[in-house]
Amino acid sequence: MTVPLAAERLARIGAEDPEVAAILAAELRRQQDTLELIPSENVASPAVLDAVGSWLTNKYAEGTPGRRYYGGCEEVDRLERLCQERARALFGAEHANVQPHCGSSANLAAYAVFCQPGDTILGMDLGHGGHLSHGSPVNFSGMLYRAVHYGVDPATEQLDYDQVQARALEVRPRVLVAGASAYPRILDFARLAAIANEVGAAFVVDMAHFAGLVAGGAHPSPVPHADLVTLTTHKTLRGPWGGMVLCRAAHAAKVDKAVFPGYQGGPLLHAIAGKAVALHAWGQPAMADYAQRVVANAGALARGLSDRGLRLVSGGTDTHLLLVDLRPLGLTGRAVQDALDRVGITVNRNAIPFDEASRFNPSGIRLGSPAVTTRGMGEAEMAEIADLVAAVVHHLDDADVAARVRARARALCDAHPLPY
Ligand SMILES: *Cc1c(COP(=O)(O)O)cnc(C)c1O
Repeated sequence: MTVPLAAERLARIGAEDPEVAAILAAELRRQQDTLELIPSENVASPAVLDAVGSWLTNKYAEGTPGRRYYGGCEEVDRLERLCQERARALFGAEHANVQPHCGSSANLAAYAVFCQPGDTILGMDLGHGGHLSHGSPVNFSGMLYRAVHYGVDPATEQLDYDQVQARALEVRPRVLVAGASAYPRILDFARLAAIANEVGAAFVVDMAHFAGLVAGGAHPSPVPHADLVTLTTHKTLRGPWGGMVLCRAAHAAKVDKAVFPGYQGGPLLHAIAGKAVALHAWGQPAMADYAQRVVANAGALARGLSDRGLRLVSGGTDTHLLLVDLRPLGLTGRAVQDALDRVGITVNRNAIPFDEASRFNPSGIRLGSPAVTTRGMGEAEMAEIADLVAAVVHHLDDADVAARVRARARALCDAHPLPY
């Protein structure tokens, strides 16, 4: 299905480049016709898309507003200041740098504020839900710094704060970083801040995943507790692809230098326009309602899956995402992800804590509610989605089940079209 906004754009692209236009059209159809349950994805508004697709892509503006290395920056100075003001106001932060191209570069900038190469950073284990940019050896964060990790308690599968404290006392990190990609529970920011304080570490929170929940008041804010907070703008925040750093005023100059010239060249002004539009939207009451519905919908999905015999890591969720442990069913993440793909339901395979399977075919799948909630689905639809996912998981190679699920998934998509 192609609705007017997309049709007009596709026609314009197609007039110059039919090959790319055909790929964009096919991807739009895929997005329209599938249930997107990858928790790091969302559906940006038409206004955000238009801002990102604007002529601001023509402009160079290395530096910060009022202190650029290029002429002709009056208008983009106003834009970047506006975006910064909106970020500060929305999150109650003293300073915002809105230039990071993604969450990973925001994190690298964050470490550079507090660390020299070779210093120790303490973050969550990738296998327990952490992120590559929290010190994985294959990421620059792990190449530049001595990375040490903490994880979850094997019994509760929730963060083991005593272990965090013991590790911190043992390794005396410069930075304690908290935040995760595959952890379904709310973190105790006050406790983590106290641990950082006890060992003289800076406390950095990476709220890449839950920034939108914080913006909408559906999740506690790390901002009052942390020295510095990083986020992405394309996940629950519903903005364009990008990152951001929030910090106390005392760190502002160092943050700005770490982003540029530290890790990046010129800012993506078109992305900053999209970020500003997305932040503005969070001023509307409907967005607080959205954030609450994301959490309620993830809860409904969790209950539905659990009632149908799927084991959830940590027993459930407080947020927008959940992890299913497939080991009790004798299945692996790859097979389930592929089977769901075939019926129009998109999830991603994911390691679960203490997973002994390979990274490439781990023992879990990760699901989330942000994108389907943006499409207007509620708890009734989530119960149906749980039913569909469970049917596929329990009947992996059953063609009749697959056909029935595919039709019902498609009907849900048709009833909740994308806004393009
Ligand atoms: C998504 C994510 C990031 C950033 O990822 P990019 O792909 O670089 O934008 C950083 N930290 C966490 C915890 C994430 O989930």
